[in-house]
Amino acid sequence: MIKSYLIILGCNSSLPTKNFHPTSQILYMRNNYFLIDCGEGTQVQLIKAKIKMNKINNIFISHLHGDHYFGIMGILSTYQLLGRKNKLNIYSPKGLKNIIYENLKWSKSKITYPLNFITLKSKKFKKIYKDENVNIYIIPLKHKIYTNGFLFKEKKKLKNLNIKNVKKIKEIKISDYLKIKKGKDFVKKNGEKISNSYLTIKKKNKLLSYAFCSDTSFKPKICKYLKNVDLLYHESTFLHEKKKLAYNRGHSTSIQAAKIAKLANVKKLLLGHYSCRFPNIGKFEKEAKKIFNNSETSKILKIYYI
Ligand SMILES: [Zn+2]
Ligand SMILES: [Zn+2]
Repeated sequence: MIKSYLIILGCNSSLPTKNFHPTSQILYMRNNYFLIDCGEGTQVQLIKAKIKMNKINNIFISHLHGDHYFGIMGILSTYQLLGRKNKLNIYSPKGLKNIIYENLKWSKSKITYPLNFITLKSKKFKKIYKDENVNIYIIPLKHKIYTNGFLFKEKKKLKNLNIKNVKKIKEIKISDYLKIKKGKDFVKKNGEKISNSYLTIKKKNKLLSYAFCSDTSFKPKICKYLKNVDLLYHESTFLHEKKKLAYNRGHSTSIQAAKIAKLANVKKLLLGHYSCRFPNIGKFEKEAKKIFNNSETSKILKIYYI
């Protein structure tokens, strides 16, 4: 099985620069491709990252500032041109559905594949998605408008059968396999219990997690949701010399992002959402490392294995 990974498609704040697009990321986790935010130019970045667009069935939008969603019309139109049939789920704050349909109305365009909008409105940490492999939660952030971060957590994997031992127990049928893979013992007709550890192979499967903290002021309260995550992306729009400005604009500094990483005891911190007033990106990393050593500035199209 391919390990979970993250690709940064864009990590600038509102103004794009020649090196950085606005915010967008693709997370691969257990056979799913999750698109997180969709700044302008996201579909071009997906092509560069060699991600097949039709593999994406779920898009998560943190908030409705343009640098986090202006790329969505392009993606939706391209899907239409490519003849998409699969349902596309869009998780976003209230308003995006109206924006999209208003846009379609004025361009006399249609979308014929199923579009499913899931409106996020909770101000509490909450599960918003689950399948057999992954759980996803919203993390309420502190910004100028309603904004969420997202926490992605792998779920417990099914165990592998010890097929040699399973075959020795004649009563076990193929229809019993799933229960055994889920960890159940097998009970024979005569009441004899065959322990699950005999029927399965012991394998250490670490469950990985990724957290995306979009635009936010310093909010240490979120650390309880971020405890021990393997990879944390946290915005750091400003260097710490602009701490006051960061607070007034609803953003964080690199030092503040590093403090969150340290308090939450995460494994690795990725910084991003740089303001274009700081052309030397390396300074963000340097500052953050003073507080949390395993800090790195996001690099476009680099693969970060979780
Ligand atoms: Zn932003
Ligand atoms: Zn914003």
